[in-house]
This record gives sequence, structure tokens and C-alpha cells, in this order.
Amino acid sequence: MRPTPFEYHRAESLDHALALLAEFGEEGRPLGGGQSLVPMMNLRLARPAHLVDINGLPLDFIEVEGDVLRVGALVRHERYLKEKVIGERFAAFHDAVQWIGHPTIRSRGTIGGSIAHADPSAELPAVAMLYGATIIARSANGERRIAADDFFLGAYMTALEAGEMVVAVEFPLPPAHSAGAFMEISERRSDFATVSVGAQITFSGGSITGARIVATGVELQPIRAIPAEEALSGKPLSACEARAAGRAFAEGIDPISDNVASSEYRRSLAAELTSRAVEKACQRALEAGQE
Ligand SMILES: Cc1cc2nc3c(=O)[nH]c(=O)nc-3n(C[C@H](O)[C@H](O)[C@H](O)COP(=O)(O)OP(=O)(O)OC[C@H]3O[C@@H](n4cnc5c(N)ncnc54)[C@H](O)[C@@H]3O)c2cc1C
Repeated sequence: MRPTPFEYHRAESLDHALALLAEFGEEGRPLGGGQSLVPMMNLRLARPAHLVDINGLPLDFIEVEGDVLRVGALVRHERYLKEKVIGERFAAFHDAVQWIGHPTIRSRGTIGGSIAHADPSAELPAVAMLYGATIIARSANGERRIAADDFFLGAYMTALEAGEMVVAVEFPLPPAHSAGAFMEISERRSDFATVSVGAQITFSGGSITGARIVATGVELQPIRAIPAEEALSGKPLSACEARAAGRAFAEGIDPISDNVASSEYRRSLAAELTSRAVEKACQRALEAGQE
């Protein structure tokens, strides 16, 4: 199939992009890596009358500023695998990126596109929630900072308004005594996740002092696994009650059911992957403690 007719506009600056998006409203869409938008246009699931190509904008940056990692909207997925700060401080982020599509997709797809597209099974929205990231959105009217926890509203639905685009995502640097991991099951390696779980724990004196756990594939947007987080708090790192955390999460959910997996299967994956992600995070924490 071919897309419905559209006009292509190459944004010359951020202000130009925002002016075009303001002018076109619901009829206009930013074009990032095009890895989701173009297939959807070809299938006529998306019919924008105007594409605003943002690829020439200076939004391809990763920088640490104080205690925040700022990632520009145009950073391609493959870059995280080479960035020292991601490998060293954001292990769960690093794990998650390896599950995104295959190398050609990772070489084009952008964080802004992935966050704005909000596919229910996508990894980066879950990663943003896992680290308590803030989405920086800009429009002709100014800037909005939206907590990742409030940003994903459902399948392909976000808090972005017409005329707004993502310009960056800010990740608080995890504290020194913390560790994380991300686990996923998909039908084939390059497929979207059936279920995925990211876990980030903080620890002190051999005990877990806090945990943040996020899952995809349970509801239509990533969700926090709060019962699992609570089950871990205060537990010794060495005993790492990963199985109990997985069970606590699975007991309280009513997962979606679709042609990929039944609700029951997703529940058992949620328990298993929570357990594995927590176990790996504890293992990394113990290794870090020995260095
Ligand atoms: C075969 C295949 C397998 C894939 N597998 C996975 C996978 O396993 N996991 C995964 O997470 N993704 C997967 N993807 C999707 C891929 O990661 C995309 O790159 C991503 O979802 C969208 O990023 P993009 O930059 O390509 O966005 P685009 O396709 O350009 O845009 C997607 C949507 O976001 C909007 N948009 C783009 N940039 C911005 C911005 N800065 N601000 C606001 N709105 C914006 C567009 O208007 C559009 O509505 C796969 C894609 C394909 C084709």
C-alpha cells in the first residue's frame, strides 16, 4: 500500500519546526527516525497531511549536567550501546536497548519518536518510567516538563498535545549505591516484547533501601510493579527475595490478552521476569560492592 498524499517540510530550526507544528495542529506530525510512522502511513493507519522532518535539528546529544543525564530527542537507539555513562550508570537502560528491533531499526529510531509513539510494548517508555525520567516537550507556546509516570496514557496515547514535540528526556543519575537490570520475552528476538520488566534497586549496608520496577505487556502502557517494590524494601541484598517480589506483582494484576499471549501467560511472564530482573539487579549490586 502507499500512504495518502502528504506534504513534506524540512524544519530549518527548532522554532521553525514548532511554528509548522502549530500551524498544522492535528494535521501535522514530526518525522523522527520514521521507523514507526512511515510503516503506519504505508498501511494508512496514520494519515498526516503534513510531515515536519526534524532530523536536521540539533537534538542529537547526550550530556550529563549536574545530577541529570539529558538525552536529545534525536538520539538513535544504537548510540546508548556505545555511551560510557549508560553502560556504567544505567545498566537496565543498556540491557533494554538490546531488545529494540534489530540493528537497522536501532540505527534510525529515535528516543523522541519512541516516547511519543508510545507503543505499549516499547522498551524506552518503560526505561523512562523506571528511572523516573522527565519528558521535555516544546510547542510554540513554550516548554512543559512532564514526569514519565504521567506521560503514557494508554496504547499510542501520551500527554503530548497537538503542536507539541519532545525535545529531550532527562534521566536523574541513579545514586552510587544502586543497580538495575531489564529482562524481556518476545516471540522472536527482534519482535516487540510480549512482557518486559525493568528493576532498579538502591542499597545500603547490605540491605535494599528502595526499588523501582516497571513492566510492559501487562496493561496498554508501562506500569509500576508497586507490590513488588514494597516486597523488596528492607530485605538483605544477599537473600534478594526476587521470587517473592515476582509473586507479589503477579497476584495483583489482570493482564491484557491478545493474539500473542493470553492473560494467564502474561501473568506468569510478569512474575518470572520480575524475579529475574530483581535477581540480576541484586547480583550486580553485590558485584559492585566487592569492587
Ligand atoms: C520491524 C520493526 C521492529 C521494531 N521493533 C521495536 C522493538 O522491539 N521495540 C521498540 O521499542 N521499538 C521497535 N520498533 C520501533 C522503533 O523503535 C521506532 O524507532 C520507534 O518506535 C519510533 O521512533 P522513530 O524515531 O522511528 O519515530 P517516527 O517513526 O519518526 O515517529 C513515530 C511517532 O512519533 C512522532 N514523533 C517522532 N519524533 C517525535 C518528537 N521528537 N516529538 C514528538 N513526536 C514525535 C511521529 O510524529 C509519529 O507519530 C520497531 C520498528 C520496526 C519497523
